[in-house]
Amino acid sequence: MMTIQFMGTSDAQGVPRLMCDCAVCRQPGRENERSRPSLWIQTGTHQMFLDLSPDFRQQYMRLQLEQIPDLVLFTHAHHDHIGGLGDYADLCFWHGRRATLISPADVIESILIRFPYLAKRPSLVFQGKHAFSVGGWEISFHRVNHGANGHSYGVRFETEAFRWAYVSDAIQLTMDEWQPFTQLDLLILGTSYWEEKTPVAKRSVYSVIEALEVRKIIQPKQLILTHLSHDIDIREKSSSLPPDVHFAYDGMRLSIASV
Ligand SMILES: [Zn+2]
Ligand SMILES: [Zn+2]
Repeated sequence: MMTIQFMGTSDAQGVPRLMCDCAVCRQPGRENERSRPSLWIQTGTHQMFLDLSPDFRQQYMRLQLEQIPDLVLFTHAHHDHIGGLGDYADLCFWHGRRATLISPADVIESILIRFPYLAKRPSLVFQGKHAFSVGGWEISFHRVNHGANGHSYGVRFETEAFRWAYVSDAIQLTMDEWQPFTQLDLLILGTSYWEEKTPVAKRSVYSVIEALEVRKIIQPKQLILTHLSHDIDIREKSSSLPPDVHFAYDGMRLSIASV
C-alpha cells in the first residue's frame, strides 16, 4: 500500500499569480487555486516529502499528520521546490526530529549554498545519492533536461508490482532521458501551459499538448499532469484530456493498493 498526496500542483508562481488580471486568476471558487508543487508519500513503513515548496507551512497544516515525515527527496534546487526547507528544518528542530534529505550530490550542493545555516544542523542529514530503497521501494533519480533553467531530476519508484515516476520540471527529453520512465503504471509529469508560443529555447517545462505527444511514445498506463500555471483552467480543460490523463489538484490523493 502506498498513498500519495499532492500538497501543491502549481508552477513556480502559484495560482492565482500575484497582481494578475487573467480570467483564471480572477475566477471565483477554488478549483484553480494551486500552491507550489510537492508530494507527501506514505509507504507501509515510512512517510516522506518529495520537494518542499515555499507553501510548505500551509500545506503541512492541511495534511494534519500525527508524525513528522523524516525523509525528504528533492528534484532540483529551484525556489518553488525547496523554498519550504527552512520551515521544515525548524519543525524538525522544535520537535527534536532527525531527518534525512536525499538528492543527487549536485542538488544537495546547490541547496546548501542557498541554506548555508542548515549545513551544520546535527538533526539534518544531507545525502547526495542517485538511488536507495525504503519500505520495499527502489527509488532512483534520473537527470532530465529542464531547458532554459538547466537540469532537474525525475524520480522513479519501483516495486515488483508497481512502477511510477515524478518528472515535474522537464522539457524536450531525449529517448535516453526517457528510458528510466518507460513501462510505468503511472507518470506524473509537469506541464505549465496548455500550449506554448514562446520559442522552445526559452522554455523549461512541457506543455499539455507536448505531454500528450510524449504519452504516445512512453505509454504510461496513467498520466497525471501537475506544475500547472494560470494558463490551465481545470474546469474548462479537463474534458479535453483523454480518459487515462488527469490534472492534479491540491489535496488530490492516490492510493496504490497493489503494493
Ligand atoms: Zn518548478
Ligand atoms: Zn525548476
